Amino acid sequence: MTNTEARPIYLDYQATTPVDERVMDAMTPFFTQAFGNPHSTSHSYGWEARDAVEVARQQIATMINADPREVIFTSGATESNNMAIKGVGRFFAGRKNHMVALKTEHKCVLESIKYMQRHEIDVTWLDVNADGLVDPDTVAAAIKPDTALVSVMLVNNEIGVIQPLAEIGAICRDRNVYLHTDAAQATGKIVIDVQAMNIDLMSLSGHKMYGPMGIGALYVRRKPRVRFEPLMDGGGQERTMRSGTLPAPLVVGFGKAAEIISQDLDQEAARIRNLRDRLLKGLQQRIADTFVNGSQNQRVMGNINIGFRGVDSESLMNALKDYVAISSGSACTSTSVEPSYVLRAIGLSDLDAHSSVRMCVGRMTTAQEIDQAIAAISNAVEKLRGAGLVTNAASVAG
Ligand SMILES: *Cc1c(COP(=O)(O)O)cnc(C)c1O
Repeated sequence: MTNTEARPIYLDYQATTPVDERVMDAMTPFFTQAFGNPHSTSHSYGWEARDAVEVARQQIATMINADPREVIFTSGATESNNMAIKGVGRFFAGRKNHMVALKTEHKCVLESIKYMQRHEIDVTWLDVNADGLVDPDTVAAAIKPDTALVSVMLVNNEIGVIQPLAEIGAICRDRNVYLHTDAAQATGKIVIDVQAMNIDLMSLSGHKMYGPMGIGALYVRRKPRVRFEPLMDGGGQERTMRSGTLPAPLVVGFGKAAEIISQDLDQEAARIRNLRDRLLKGLQQRIADTFVNGSQNQRVMGNINIGFRGVDSESLMNALKDYVAISSGSACTSTSVEPSYVLRAIGLSDLDAHSSVRMCVGRMTTAQEIDQAIAAISNAVEKLRGAGLVTNAASVAG
């Protein structure tokens, strides 16, 4: 704690979140005391771990208005996305050979669908509008008689926009097509209701919602029943859908994180929205020539994706590295010098994409931090512009 002052202000809650202290406290005994294998059926060590896992399953189910039997624990949203897309693709191979997905999906969805494309699945890649949203009509028009799966993310990890999933869900149910959604960025930010939204498969991630890394879930609808082929062969855990020993301490933490969200969402959303608006207004007041990427209304409360004309985002992040932790695009692709494919998909030029950064306010952010961040960012932008350090996008993109 003594070090906190010296550390950069964390505004990258869409890359990951710290584990909430209440989550940490819930997990600790399951590492050292109640350490049993939740699949051991012959003694109390196993039973207590199993009981704790089932409490967590109920906590996750409550958060999304599901039946606990529909919650399958995985290692994270990457695994859940692979499981849903490849699992449905393989189950229906030869009968339903078409899938639909957005061009702005997370890398692990894009790559899983491209994998199916190499295995004789025909794919319709949907464009989004300039605000980052897809029209439900565009989804409806893409569905064919042999469509097995529509995959539309609930909240985008770069620009924070919220897709009209309830409308898309109604269309998919009507046309008898599975709807999968990557909701890793939605938990703890908006209310998720798998019934109201007619979701059939949904991917969740612990570390995006103040739980631990290495745990996630796939929601799998029971009525009407969703069929897919499991990725993992083994002991048949998780109703044979996902073999492997469940990491009980992580499952417990994930469940606790969900319980906190179910209790506190409204209050937390209002507080974070205020801080985000303070940050955005502060930046816009102090800095000329800015632009905001993605819909302003259909957007989660913590996210900002903002461009500073004439400033290269890599130089900006470098100038800020001791003061504010922000990112350009997603953590998974930020090692590449290619401009963000999400920003390209909403129509930005390479130059504008290379001038844009993502900031995300979260549970631990304070008003004081926001004011310090505004000062640090506006100083850095001013210095970079003054030094004539204009964007070098042309050279890096070439
Ligand atoms: C972080 C993230 C993932 C990957 O989740 P992991 O649990 O880290 O595998 C998938 N999709 C989206 C939208 C994400 O933000």
